[in-house]
Amino acid sequence: MNAVTRQARNSSLKKQVLIVGGGLAGLATAESLARNYPERFDITILEAKRSTGGRAGSFQDSKTGGTIDYCQHVAMGCCTSFLGLLERQGLDGQLHRYTRLKFFHPEHAVSTFSPYRWLPAPFHLMPALSNLRYLNRSQRRQIQRALFRLFRTGSDDLTDLLAEPWLEEHGQDQATIKDFWSVIVVSALGESIDRVSLAAVRKVFIDGFAAAHGASDVLVPKLPLADLIGGQLTAAIEQLGVEVKTGRMVRQVSSEKSVVMADGQTLTADHVVIAVPWHCVNDLVPSDAVDNLEGLAAAPASPISGLHLWFDQQITDLPHAVLVGTVAQWVFRQPWEQEQAASGFYYQVVISASQSARCLPRQELIDVVLRELRHAFPAARGARLVQSKVVTDPKSVFSITPQFEEIRPTSSTGLPWLHLAGDWIATGWPATMESAVISGRMAAASVLQSDFGGNLDVEAGLPRGWLARYLIKP
Ligand SMILES: Cc1cc2nc3c(=O)[nH]c(=O)nc-3n(C[C@H](O)[C@H](O)[C@H](O)COP(=O)(O)OP(=O)(O)OC[C@H]3O[C@@H](n4cnc5c(N)ncnc54)[C@H](O)[C@@H]3O)c2cc1C
Repeated sequence: MNAVTRQARNSSLKKQVLIVGGGLAGLATAESLARNYPERFDITILEAKRSTGGRAGSFQDSKTGGTIDYCQHVAMGCCTSFLGLLERQGLDGQLHRYTRLKFFHPEHAVSTFSPYRWLPAPFHLMPALSNLRYLNRSQRRQIQRALFRLFRTGSDDLTDLLAEPWLEEHGQDQATIKDFWSVIVVSALGESIDRVSLAAVRKVFIDGFAAAHGASDVLVPKLPLADLIGGQLTAAIEQLGVEVKTGRMVRQVSSEKSVVMADGQTLTADHVVIAVPWHCVNDLVPSDAVDNLEGLAAAPASPISGLHLWFDQQITDLPHAVLVGTVAQWVFRQPWEQEQAASGFYYQVVISASQSARCLPRQELIDVVLRELRHAFPAARGARLVQSKVVTDPKSVFSITPQFEEIRPTSSTGLPWLHLAGDWIATGWPATMESAVISGRMAAASVLQSDFGGNLDVEAGLPRGWLARYLIKP
């Protein structure tokens, strides 16, 4: 048998996998299969848009000509699956890592949150909490008590519970809820504290802060998401042999191991992985394949707004800052070096759970945020805003309510050849890049399981030290 015939034969023995959706979940599914079983699968990603990356993407701004992320994305040190995905493709150097956060409160001096590396987790957080100067001693004590309760309550005991009533029952006054719990919860979960599940809040405070050193480090891409995810990550996955087809919208998955494209073409496969957002699944898959499809489609979403602001001079040299008690929640200075002066000095203000902010007229919202920035940063008072843009995705993230937690499906479906991926899968994580990547791994494991009984583990989280293992229930 000559080499060409052998290659054709090997290729025909390979199982065909179609992945619908080229966001992080679809890319992670492809990477997991292609890297671990290159000889077993032929993998194709079908992405409706002109580029991959999905919600973790960028647009070309017509006025400044720059590539701008729809919204600044950050990862945390605890996001081991997302970081592992980048690392395996040699892209881990494309993130800035910060170990400290600056908190600005309109009525207090600036606070630096910096976990203490000489104390074992979770006690490494205590000096950092004490440094939040806008909290008084009684509030710090309230927080410590509630954190300890969360440590001692297993996540299985928290299903069905809303966070806010639990916090009130556990001695948190309204000011502490507003200035501490809400600040972290809204930016980590993208939803307001009165709607989120307590299990999700526990996840943030334990995995994202308390359980291990480095968990709360903030990682910010050094380049636009279109270049990092849509460009370099996608190219690296193509190098593994995955075919990525963009501008290819799937209209329906039929019950015959095939997908019907928007142009009417039918593609068949051995496995189909659906990696689209939760609100699109119902329209695509056979109704008996997944439980609660209608519940998923109707599940509420939460908006996140990015205010893109160009000034004629620098307003702060901090790479980012957290704003407390204001409409603006985070401000980021442009994290990459590029034509800074030509289009002005670029900053982005992020407002999560922006339901009320987006009801304000655009100019009013910008004026409010400008006043807040000028109050926080003296250099902003002399700066002129030369350009602005407000981008809001009304379905940025699913609202992580107790009801949503209950209906999140696993990657396997009622059909052995049909699998699910997406940040909305039952990963235990809120709608994040980490959840999307974990779901990709779970979908790959589901493919392997149904194909030949194989398995693939999800990346381990950060290792917990002895004290964290002793104090924090699983
Ligand atoms: C404004 C905003 C800010 C955010 N900030 C952060 C952050 O700071 N940190 C963080 O970790 N996460 C953040 N997230 C969440 C993060 O972006 C998502 O959790 C993650 O990108 C979801 O990836 P995914 O692959 O599951 O879904 P998506 O990214 O939505 O990908 C789904 C893909 O499927 C494609 N598709 C849909 N239908 C079809 C079809 N019929 N045929 C073919 N293709 C189809 C879509 O075009 C899309 O590319 C933010 C999200 C938003 C919107």
